[in-house]
Amino acid sequence: MGLAMSVIGTGYLGAVHAACMALEGHDVVGVDTDEARAVALARGEAPFYEPGLDEALVAARGTGRLRFTSDIRAAGDCTVHFLCVGTPQSRDGLAADTTYLMAAAHALAPHVRGDALVVGKSTVPVGTSGAVELAMSGERGGGVRVAWNPEFLREGFAIRDTLHPDRLVYGVDAASASADVAVLDEVYAGQVGRGVQRLVVDRTTAELVKVAANSFLATKISFINAMAQVCEAAGGDVVALADAIGMDPRIGRSFLNAGLGFGGGCLPKDIRAFLARAEELGVGEALDFLRAVDRVNLGRRTRVVELATSVCGGSLEGARVAVLGAAFKPDSDDIRDSPALDVAQRLHRLGASVTIHDPKATHRAKAVAPELNYSDSALGACTDADVVLHLTEWPEYRALDPADLARVVRAAVVVDGRNVLDAARWRAAGWTCLSLGRPAA
Ligand code: NAD
Repeated sequence: MGLAMSVIGTGYLGAVHAACMALEGHDVVGVDTDEARAVALARGEAPFYEPGLDEALVAARGTGRLRFTSDIRAAGDCTVHFLCVGTPQSRDGLAADTTYLMAAAHALAPHVRGDALVVGKSTVPVGTSGAVELAMSGERGGGVRVAWNPEFLREGFAIRDTLHPDRLVYGVDAASASADVAVLDEVYAGQVGRGVQRLVVDRTTAELVKVAANSFLATKISFINAMAQVCEAAGGDVVALADAIGMDPRIGRSFLNAGLGFGGGCLPKDIRAFLARAEELGVGEALDFLRAVDRVNLGRRTRVVELATSVCGGSLEGARVAVLGAAFKPDSDDIRDSPALDVAQRLHRLGASVTIHDPKATHRAKAVAPELNYSDSALGACTDADVVLHLTEWPEYRALDPADLARVVRAAVVVDGRNVLDAARWRAAGWTCLSLGRPAA
């Protein structure tokens, strides 16, 4: 018998979590203040691109165990409530904006049964679980149990990561630890049964695990991008360097791909929020390195703008630039803090006529960057271009035939912002290939 559960906030995280929980046998209601989103999800349509999500929604709906609504009262009968709303960067600083989360907690509180468990999954500043508990208990006029269970899914692999996570982290309050762990074990009976490790920690540690993990990943990416900068100055090859250091198992090769750097709705805002929270806690200095991580990351975008400018003779006025990719990473249509889109917009501001292609993210990019041109094919985007920028690592860009593209461009120059194109193949087709952290020829 599954549990009756609500998932509050059905974005990239919540929609996937709700569908997967229903597929695991639970009775799930997804609640979102965005009514159009709830209606689309109720029809079995993912409101964003995530491989396998449409199919998962349809399959879960077929079981009769998955509903979506914008009415929070529908959560009333549940025994577990997952908080999955957004925690974006504040408008006026580095800190996370937890107002959506607190609003969700306040809205949910009057409907929470006395024996229910509230489980936070959003990424939050350390200490937030206590604030949520206090706010909900105050609103309800009685105790509310709150646990924190951070989520590590990757967009593009979200279904797989939810059903087969690397680990589960249960952050529980000492006073109700055994009851909370028992509920979470029931929630994740499928995953635990498939051998997934679960770690039981206090709530503070659970909140920190998530931001520490993202800080580590961001640091690894910026480390190799810093090496790319050194390679550019000294004439080395950062890809060969990454291969060589990555063979040391203490270092590892993953997340050592030099290029345009990270973006999206998580890493950039999470490292900034962590910095802001550490300042509040009086240990800002300990995380000073994250400022450098952020700076190196953003510096790669400037480097691509500079490369494009120099290819176009020192000025972008009147230049035509093709940009391959708008999403912050492949297999997603997420354009939040997308490095590709940022570079495209900067080039436009410098006078270039920019045409973008992306297999999935065009409609989202158009909504925030209507000043750019869009093409529904890579070939179309490259037509008459003075320079082609490869900025999001979609597999189909690797499969492009450089000879076909060479026939339509004005100048056969490509900047590989992800270091994955087969440079020898492109050069053989007459292209000049420029990369980040690698020699030009
Ligand atoms: P998102 O913006 O895609 O989704 C947030 C959803 O919450 C939206 O649909 C919004 O309408 C809804 N919402 C806002 N206020 C609400 C309220 N009061 N009640 C109900 N719904 C409300 O964000 P996301 O990417 O899904 O991220 C959610 C959280 O999960 C963030 O804290 C993020 O850092 C974390 N997270 C995200 C990922 C990821 O890959 N996207 C991975 C791990 C953790």
